[in-house]
Amino acid sequence: MRAQDVFSLDGRVALVTGAGSGLGRRFAEVLAANGARVIVSDIDGASAKETAAAILSQGGQAMAVAIDVTSASSIAAGLRAGELAFGRVDVLVNNAGVLSKGRAITLAESEWRRVFDVNLDGAWRVAQQVAASMIEGDGGVIVNIASVLGVGTGKGVLAYTVAKAGLVQLTRALALEWAPAGIRVNALAPGYVATQLNRDFTAAKSGEGLRRRIPQRRFGSESDLDGALLLLASSASAFMTGSIIIVDGGQMLTA
Ligand code: NAD
Repeated sequence: MRAQDVFSLDGRVALVTGAGSGLGRRFAEVLAANGARVIVSDIDGASAKETAAAILSQGGQAMAVAIDVTSASSIAAGLRAGELAFGRVDVLVNNAGVLSKGRAITLAESEWRRVFDVNLDGAWRVAQQVAASMIEGDGGVIVNIASVLGVGTGKGVLAYTVAKAGLVQLTRALALEWAPAGIRVNALAPGYVATQLNRDFTAAKSGEGLRRRIPQRRFGSESDLDGALLLLASSASAFMTGSIIIVDGGQMLTA
C-alpha cells in the first residue's frame, strides 16, 4: 500500500455538524475530495445545502440535512435522512460550535448554558446517537473539534474555554469506553483561524497583538487543518484514540 492510500476515505460516509460555514464547510469539502460521501449538516439548513452544492460541483458526493445539535430529536431525524441516502455513518466530525464573550463576574447563566448546549452537550448528543449505529455495525471514527482554548485557556471567553476543555475530556472518556466497539475518538484543537466565529477579534487590534505572539506570526488558514483532519478521519490514525492534536502555529508553546 502506498503511504498516501491510508488517507483515502473511498467508500466511507462522513457526517459533519455545523458544516454550513467556516471550518465545517472546509472539513466537509476535504472529506469529500478524499472520497467520502458526506452528510452535510447545520442548524441553518440553507447553508448546509450551499456546502453540499459546492461539493457536488467539485465532483464529490454529498447531501444536506438540517441538524440542531441542541435537540436529540433533530439529530435523530437528520441521521435517519442521512442514513437513508448513504446507508450509515463511518466518520463523525463534531464541529458545530458557538463563541461567547463574557467574564465570570457578569456572565448570564443562560449564556453559559447556551454555549455548553452547543459545544459540549451537542457533541455528546450526536456522538451518542451515531455510536449506537457504529456499535451495531463495523465501528467508526469520531473527530471532535476542540480548541487551543480548551487545552490552555483565555480571558473573556469563560463559557467557551470551559466547554472546550470539557470536549477534550469527553474525547478521552468516549475513546476509553468505545475502543472495544471499534470506535476511535480523537480531537483536533485548532488555534485561531479567521472565520465568522472570531472575525471581529482576528481583524481587530487585540487580535493583532495575539498574532504577533504566535511563534509563526500568523493566524491559521482553513487549509492548515486539512492534514490533521484527514489523519484523524482515515485509517492513517488506526492506532490513535483519545489523542488531542493541536494545530496552532506554535501558539500553545507561549501560553
Ligand atoms: P462558524 O461560526 O463559521 O461555524 C459554526 C457553524 O456551526 C455555523 O455554520 C453555525 O450555523 C453552526 N451551528 C451553530 N449552532 C449550531 C447548532 N445548535 N446546531 C448545529 N449547527 C450549529 O465557526 P468556525 O470558526 O467555523 O468554528 C467551527 C468549529 O471550530 C467550532 O466548534 C469552533 O469552536 C471551532 N474552532 C474554531 C476556531 C477558529 O479560529 N475559527 C478555533 C478553534 C476551534
